[in-house]
Amino acid sequence: MRKDLGDRMKFIAFEVRDYEIEHFKKLKIEVKKNKDNLTLDNINLVEGYEGISTLGHSVMNKGVLDALKEYGIKYVSTRTIGYDHIDVQHAKNIGIRVSRSYYDPNGVADYTIMLMLMSLRHYKQAMFRGNVNDYSLSGLQGKEMRSLTVGVIGTGNIGAQVVENLTGFGCDIIGFDTFQNPKLENKITYVTLEDLFKKSDIITLHTPLLESTKYMINKDSLQLMKDGVIIINCARGELINTEDIIDAIETRKVGALGLDVIEDEKGIYHQDRRSDILENRAMAYLRQFPNVVMTQHIAFFTYEAVGMMVNTSINSLINFANGEECRFEVK
Ligand code: NAD
Repeated sequence: MRKDLGDRMKFIAFEVRDYEIEHFKKLKIEVKKNKDNLTLDNINLVEGYEGISTLGHSVMNKGVLDALKEYGIKYVSTRTIGYDHIDVQHAKNIGIRVSRSYYDPNGVADYTIMLMLMSLRHYKQAMFRGNVNDYSLSGLQGKEMRSLTVGVIGTGNIGAQVVENLTGFGCDIIGFDTFQNPKLENKITYVTLEDLFKKSDIITLHTPLLESTKYMINKDSLQLMKDGVIIINCARGELINTEDIIDAIETRKVGALGLDVIEDEKGIYHQDRRSDILENRAMAYLRQFPNVVMTQHIAFFTYEAVGMMVNTSINSLINFANGEECRFEVK
């Protein structure tokens, strides 16, 4: 028989952020909340619970998973989409079920369009000038989306939503993916990667970071692109060879760059590092260009997405506790 919600289900969440609390409160079951990362030092806190939910900073390696098992934890659910902080194979070996999270692609897709428009209309310069009462126009002339060809690399969840968002702008949309998304039939023209590089005025990246996608933007691919091309990256920093793109900005090959992610951002983004010496020279150098807009990996960060991350994670734990199929189980 299916357990009633709340009946004998005991879950504890770690890394609970202030902005998540109201979403936890809306759940139909009570979840014990803890702000800290789960580590071997505080693992005793899981005693008496059957499932845990974390964000991505609680590293669940063999040692942690074995300890969780000893304390009676049967299910682990991360409130992130990525799950590379969990040794899934070891969890499976010792009989702990694992789930990742999910949120709709709209937040990242909206953000991508914002970076495109900011890049196209020289927003960073316009804003900086306004701050010092410089209201001159020189150098701020932009272009209209309807005159341009946008190339979408990776037309999965987020890429497809970017295409949907773009359809109202009247631009030509071309795409490249190793798998053609049937939902986009009649909305984009799939081309080869080389053709996409050659024909696009704006290129936006939406592939996962894989061996095949790492540094896909490099000096060779940049060479194929139109002069003044705009590149947007809301996927993973390592899709772009940072040194090569710096060269391409200096030679004016790249007209503007919109980055929500950057190579080696871990340990910097999502933290207050104001008083620290940072060791990412490329990041600082890129930031000073007038035509580079950078944000700290926040494209996902919306009220709606955070709500879905919390909900999906705890629902997975409920599925597990009821012995049910779980849509987001990582096997
Ligand atoms: P998805 O799996 O739905 O889509 C990825 C697409 O990339 C798939 O269609 C796949 O076929 C395609 N692909 C894989 N290898 C390829 C290759 N070599 N060349 C071309 N296409 C290839 O993933 P998604 O949900 O759309 O997310 C895409 C990426 O966005 C994620 O992997 C993540 O890195 C990033 N992301 C960033 C944020 C943020 O806040 N900035 C938030 C969520 C996701």
